[in-house]
Amino acid sequence: MSRWFSAKYSALTPYTPGEQPKDRSYIKLNTNESPFPPSEAVVRAAEKEARSLELYSDPESVVLRRALAEAYGVDFNETIVTNGSDEVLNFAFMAFCDEKRPAIFPDITYGFYPVFAALNGVPFREIPLRDDFTIDPEDYIRSEGTVFLANPNAPTGIALPLCMIERIVAADPDRVVVVDEAYVDFGGESAVRLIPQYENLLVVRTFSKSRSLAGARLGFGLAQASLIADLHTIRYSTNPYNVNRMTEAAGAASLAEDELNHAHVEIIKNTRERTAKALAGLSFELTPSCANFLFARHPSIPGEELYRKLKQRGILVRHFSLPRIADYNRITVGSAEEMDALVAAVRELVEETK
Ligand code: PMP
Repeated sequence: MSRWFSAKYSALTPYTPGEQPKDRSYIKLNTNESPFPPSEAVVRAAEKEARSLELYSDPESVVLRRALAEAYGVDFNETIVTNGSDEVLNFAFMAFCDEKRPAIFPDITYGFYPVFAALNGVPFREIPLRDDFTIDPEDYIRSEGTVFLANPNAPTGIALPLCMIERIVAADPDRVVVVDEAYVDFGGESAVRLIPQYENLLVVRTFSKSRSLAGARLGFGLAQASLIADLHTIRYSTNPYNVNRMTEAAGAASLAEDELNHAHVEIIKNTRERTAKALAGLSFELTPSCANFLFARHPSIPGEELYRKLKQRGILVRHFSLPRIADYNRITVGSAEEMDALVAAVRELVEETK
């Protein structure tokens, strides 16, 4: 830390993204990317825009937001697009949390939430998940503050039924509930259709997972116009050109290809179930994942050891050192071949411990 670093950030522990090592090629199952590259049409749309990069992007992202409004059945002014969904999440912490309205989220969830809270100097409260890693909705029905729920949750993959989300949102119209649906396309129920009824609901989505655009950095928020207007105020006060021209074009092209994305999601879901079965056959315990990853532990191989040994064999998975989940690894569902390689490597490691 330099001696000029502001005191207000001196205690900040930044978020640690999944590793992107360059020392060799790995089967990368650690950051929940899609195994499918973007389509030709998406690549062509981005390439075409690259020819106009001397010009700023549209600060209103009109083309993309119109396409989003149409795709999700909301109004144009109920949409905001951002540089990854991380950005709209950060905007939500900035806009809807303060001393009187702490951020509230589970003790095991997306690791960026406590960082966003700390970055913005807002208090936060972590509510323990039940022993089986499910959320007890009652905990959130009673709580005062701004609620952040990843649904399906990460890294567990467990989804909360939409009726429970609705109960939490309806319990207190005076507080905002942010539902982070990064993984919803892989098996959760989206809260988007609750938006017309609840002015305190913000739904956050991303193009990074089911739409194969993690590297484009494109996320979005959907909510009634008043919440969205607050987020635009924050956006115009930080970075009005937050979505670049190529990404805006790629996003709009992706929305025009719902069938293809849907087909990819179905393949990933099938691969997930097949891999889960194979791992269960090797005595792994798995959470019921509705996401594009599995969360698994083996009764006789510590989580960190499995992570390390897989890495030595050229397979990267994600291990978290939080005590409650240190026995587990989060394994992205990659291609069928990648998952076969994973299962084969794991089988060898299990044999070794016998
Ligand atoms: N929410 C959750 C639960 C996530 O796991 C991630 C991915 N790390 C994000 C949001 C952010 O994704 P992105 O910024 O790529 O949209």
